[in-house]
Amino acid sequence: MEKKWYDIAVIGLGAVGSATLYQLSKSGAKVIGLDRFAPPHTLGSSHGETRITRLAVGEGEEYVALAKRSHEIWTELESLSGEVIRTRTGGLLIDSGEKPWAKHGAEGFWERTVRFARNQQIEHRIPDLQEINTSFPAFQIPVSGKVYHEMEAGFLRPELAIQTQLDLAQKNGAELKLHSPVQTIREVHDGFELMLQNETLPVKKVVLTAGGWIKDFIPTLERKKFKICRQVLHWLEIEPGVTDWTSYPVWMWGFGANPEDFIYGFPSLDGISVKMASESFLEVDHPDLIEREVNEEEQQEFWKNKVEGKITGLKNNFLKSSVCFYTVTEDAKFVIEPMNGREDFLWVSACSGHGFKHSAALGEVLAKRILSS
Ligand SMILES: Cc1cc2nc3c(=O)[nH]c(=O)nc-3n(C[C@H](O)[C@H](O)[C@H](O)COP(=O)(O)OP(=O)(O)OC[C@H]3O[C@@H](n4cnc5c(N)ncnc54)[C@H](O)[C@@H]3O)c2cc1C
Repeated sequence: MEKKWYDIAVIGLGAVGSATLYQLSKSGAKVIGLDRFAPPHTLGSSHGETRITRLAVGEGEEYVALAKRSHEIWTELESLSGEVIRTRTGGLLIDSGEKPWAKHGAEGFWERTVRFARNQQIEHRIPDLQEINTSFPAFQIPVSGKVYHEMEAGFLRPELAIQTQLDLAQKNGAELKLHSPVQTIREVHDGFELMLQNETLPVKKVVLTAGGWIKDFIPTLERKKFKICRQVLHWLEIEPGVTDWTSYPVWMWGFGANPEDFIYGFPSLDGISVKMASESFLEVDHPDLIEREVNEEEQQEFWKNKVEGKITGLKNNFLKSSVCFYTVTEDAKFVIEPMNGREDFLWVSACSGHGFKHSAALGEVLAKRILSS
């Protein structure tokens, strides 16, 4: 029997891959999406209930257009599916102002954010501390602190975003092949062969969006540029009667000179707990080697170093903790490269811990680029 050919295969269906597959499915091309698991799942970089989205992204002014376009696409996805993927809560960026603060490779992250917001006409305010104290008394900001408040910021539902894009892609005719790890990708004279566990799949073009597993496919020298860093999310119990956590905005807070001197969080979605996290940049060699359990010692360290003295209205009681991971480059920029110079085989990095908010538009960019190759 003659083998079935696909025009384009998208390998890895997390945030970036599901968005790419959805965009490609609108083109009429014969597309297939493959994943080693069944997304949305909890083993990659795209799980944990919520992701912050903000428009004035201090990581780089060049990303503002991507964030804005992603908001438009989330709205399109919501009207097609009837689901609520993005919730606008407003967002606070707090800088304790005591020590210089760099985030995701960007020095002066707070100042950059304000500058980009002004340059790009993003609606924002710089409220005084007294106002923040009245509206959001949980934050114990020192007098040296400063706050940026962006109106369009909010949170995304990552699992729902992925599922919705995969569902819509299938409706448009895309095929899915789940629980199918691609072992290797071989160049053949008129395209590529994807070697799966028990079969070979011929395709004309490839978009490789395998998140941290990208290290399994790229040249050795490139691999060193991508650091896999374990991250832990915590859900802390609310202390009743202190403040109404359900009406909080999303928030990010830098309080020191180390990249780990940072916390962020969300409004309470259930009225019982608040999801919060910090960042860690300790390197693990490969996603398969990540410790997936969170012990009590880690939780208490988080409480002592990140919560105590900074945030009130929460109990030192961890209702849940979950492990995820970043794949970061030195400058925290996104990497999109043609494999061995071939525009018909694009590979994409997992976006250095700030990619979810951009993923919808990234999918559009990748789809256009591979279709025109
Ligand atoms: C804790 C945490 C918090 C974050 N917070 C934010 C935030 O608030 N805002 C924000 O914008 N961004 C945030 N990010 C970053 C953002 O979530 C990531 O940049 C984004 O989710 C990466 O998506 P991805 O598609 O590249 O990777 P993934 O979602 O990991 O997808 C990769 C997929 O490839 C599949 N795969 C791997 N190897 C193979 C193979 N050989 N064959 C087939 N399939 C394969 C995997 O199973 C997986 O499904 C956060 C990340 C983490 C970890």
